[in-house]
Amino acid sequence: MTLYVTLPDGSPLELDDDATVAGAAAAIGPRLAKAAIAGRVTAAATPDVTLLVDVSAALHDGDAVAIVTLKGDDPDAVDIQRHTASHVMAQAIVRLFPGTRYAIGPTIENGFYYDFQFPEPIAEADLARIEKEMAKIVSQNLPLERFELPVDEALAVFGAGAPGTGPSGLPVGLGQPFKVELIEDLVTAAEAVEGEVPTISVYRQGEFVDLCRGPHLPSTNKLGSGTFKLTSLAGAYWRGDEKNAMLTRVYGTAFASKEELAAYLEALELARQRDHRRIGRDLDLFSFHEEGPGFPFFHPKGMRLWNAMVDYWREEHVRAGYEEISTPVILRRELWERSGHWENYKDNMYFTTIDEQPYAVKPMNCPGGLLIYKSRRRSYRDLPLRMAELGRVHRHEMSGVLHGLFRVRYFTQDDAHIYCTPEQLEEEVRGVVRFMHHIYAAFGFSDVRIELSTRPEKSIGSDEVWERAEGVLAAVLDSERIEYVLNPGDGAFYGPKIDFHIRDVMGRTWQCGTIQVDFAMPERLDITYTGADNEEHRPVMIHRALLGSIERFMGILLEHYGGNLPTWLAPEQALVLPIADRHGEYAQEVLRTLRAAGAADPAKAPVGLHADIDDRSESIGKRIRDAQLQKVPYILVVGDREQESGAVGVRERGEDKGPRPLGAFVDQLVDEVRERRLPPLD
Ligand SMILES: [Zn+2]
Ligand SMILES: [Zn+2]
Repeated sequence: MTLYVTLPDGSPLELDDDATVAGAAAAIGPRLAKAAIAGRVTAAATPDVTLLVDVSAALHDGDAVAIVTLKGDDPDAVDIQRHTASHVMAQAIVRLFPGTRYAIGPTIENGFYYDFQFPEPIAEADLARIEKEMAKIVSQNLPLERFELPVDEALAVFGAGAPGTGPSGLPVGLGQPFKVELIEDLVTAAEAVEGEVPTISVYRQGEFVDLCRGPHLPSTNKLGSGTFKLTSLAGAYWRGDEKNAMLTRVYGTAFASKEELAAYLEALELARQRDHRRIGRDLDLFSFHEEGPGFPFFHPKGMRLWNAMVDYWREEHVRAGYEEISTPVILRRELWERSGHWENYKDNMYFTTIDEQPYAVKPMNCPGGLLIYKSRRRSYRDLPLRMAELGRVHRHEMSGVLHGLFRVRYFTQDDAHIYCTPEQLEEEVRGVVRFMHHIYAAFGFSDVRIELSTRPEKSIGSDEVWERAEGVLAAVLDSERIEYVLNPGDGAFYGPKIDFHIRDVMGRTWQCGTIQVDFAMPERLDITYTGADNEEHRPVMIHRALLGSIERFMGILLEHYGGNLPTWLAPEQALVLPIADRHGEYAQEVLRTLRAAGAADPAKAPVGLHADIDDRSESIGKRIRDAQLQKVPYILVVGDREQESGAVGVRERGEDKGPRPLGAFVDQLVDEVRERRLPPLD
């Protein structure tokens, strides 16, 4: 008996009626038989469903079949490889650390992880040992066999009963409580939907058994050698819930070829060198202390960078018609109850008591801003009212997720609230969208991705109001000819929003800006304006942030530029290096000139360059190297020749530009800073 399947080019293939994906590959040719790692199968009865299956999966008459291999750039193939690597890693770990409980091991972008409960804590140093054991498992070429088990047997396999062998030949009594919990959940979910008990798919490779849907590589040697690498350890709660056990997450990656892995690891190393935590330490910008985990401390140079960012931000906001406000960090709890933050956000808030009254530390600036709005009568003539605030907000983040300036427990939101009439909404949104692009470009980010999120299921306000607001946001993006991704149902409960994602030099995207239309807050805090008709009306409220968080944006900037910041942002813009002691006096004169630069000419503001001197008794070569490590854009060497001619020997970002007259150099530097020029990126 035979059956026919259809190949991707539409041609039919005749196979024995017990054929598998592997059989189909073999019938096409021996090279494909060797390369096959999985199949993509569409059954004739369900043409809309294509499944990825093991090469051992049976084929049926009328199936459409594509053979999946690791050659070429098939994302499914590399995903199967990474997924299999996570099982091989778990097997290696159980061999090396008997008694380890394994939880879940999914693939992620560029790799995989697996969460474990180790009998004893392990360290990064153990990763090499685990990799070695993985290589051994690869060379043992263990087949990955799939079993469909009744629930009872699956529970016996992973349960804590006496060790032995079950009816399918699999071991029982493995003592894996996380797997037992997952099986119980599968049963509950299946019962809820279909009212029937499912079979449980389990895979075995050698002595190791895991619960999994599959598919996997057919055998461990297909993982290849030199193609996988374990990268790091982290803590993770079982099912992401802090009430559960803290597990150890082991991260790794795998690629189809050694070359691809090497290229990826190189990129990873580049990212490590550009890690803002490292740059922050090396350049003496900021630090973190045990005394306040997640609360950054900014050093003098860090504040120079901060102020350069904020000075620019302020200038642009004045130009764009914003007023700046400042609201308190601690306010009565009652306000947060009224604003809805208490109900929706209290788990992330900090509380305190003042005069026996309950207070809260602000996690957002909006309620405070609204009190300023309410502090006087507003007329339609006052609108639109644009009030910006660099508001320091505190949010309780889990200690496990804290990450340099990217994930902190306080940050400074570059917030603004715009109050306008419904008729003004479109122009206001347009203004913010343009403003956003303008600001990102100034910091060196011209690749901006935009998402429009619409009404979620749980939301407030009438359909009509939502439709109008969503229509306004879409109309602005369309008329500005801005492409965007639509996220239906992803808006805030109080209104639709536009999110802005910037792409950095390493190709990563960061959500920074947001524009949110809010129908709820004006209602909740009862704000109004007097219309031309002398009646009271509700204004529309827009929440918007551009950079998002000054702290986080600083981290993004540091990584984007690898610490080689544009001169206008650089905490140290020029460093004077006298060659010998006899040049000390002239070097001081150069320093004074730099620090006073532009002061006589207000048109050349901002003035006062950040210049320093390095007159240590180290060799000039050593001091130049040190300055380069400090990422100082301009190194100014002064010796006999420069001193005699009133010049400086200029090294710009590692490139020797030769001597320049001091006056001409300072003018050029002031222009570069004032115009906020951007350097080329490497
Ligand atoms: Zn699996
Ligand atoms: Zn707000």
